[in-house]
Amino acid sequence: MIQIAIDGPGGAGKSTISKAVAAKLGIVYVDTGALYRTIGYYVRSKEIDPRDKDGVGAILPEISIEVAYVDGAQHVFLNGEDLGDKIRTPEMSMYASAVSAIPAVRAFLLETQKEIARKNSVIMDGRDIGTVILPNADCKIYLTASAECRAKRRYDELIAKGQKVLFEDVLREMNERDTQDSTREIAPAQAASDAVILDNSGMNLEESVDAVIALVREKTNFFEKK
Ligand code: C5P
Repeated sequence: MIQIAIDGPGGAGKSTISKAVAAKLGIVYVDTGALYRTIGYYVRSKEIDPRDKDGVGAILPEISIEVAYVDGAQHVFLNGEDLGDKIRTPEMSMYASAVSAIPAVRAFLLETQKEIARKNSVIMDGRDIGTVILPNADCKIYLTASAECRAKRRYDELIAKGQKVLFEDVLREMNERDTQDSTREIAPAQAASDAVILDNSGMNLEESVDAVIALVREKTNFFEKK
């Protein structure tokens, strides 16, 4: 069993890179942001302010989240419904970021994340994987890139999905979300003290994947065991 923790700000390519690494290593890719997005989605559907700690806390008992993997793709079920791309909008990014600052929400999702890593070899991405969820991970990487570079990637992704967005809005929202995530009181987004910082501003996808695999090779005995 291996645990690879990938943390870092939005748009650093965590999910695309982690997915590719998971496929190459034959392990499970866990996208933890999807869990916070799912809670955000439910909060929105109930017309609750995502910053309202008590309001959000009160509806958590109504939520059941299940995670399943089909052909390497993660599906998150909210009370039995597969939400698919409905959680992938800029609005849901902001909802996810707001609810994720509420301690009760983080506590609610803690066991789900730990259990997946107990049962599978994983590469798990998020904001607090190396610090809180998998403090004993075999390899911890903090993946980052310049704000402009990350916003451009996120912009291209949204346009490719047919969403109508402006680059300036994507950059502003990304900066807002980074500030919110890294300054919150609970589990602020930050590199674990034993994480390797990987800035992939000048790298394409293939180079980023190779850089991550090189770090896995350096930090773990995964390849020797194969
Ligand atoms: O990674 P993604 O953009 O899907 O995450 C959405 C939001 O969920 C982040 O902005 C962050 O606020 C929150 N999050 C978190 N901890 C994680 C993963 C995501 O707080 N492990």
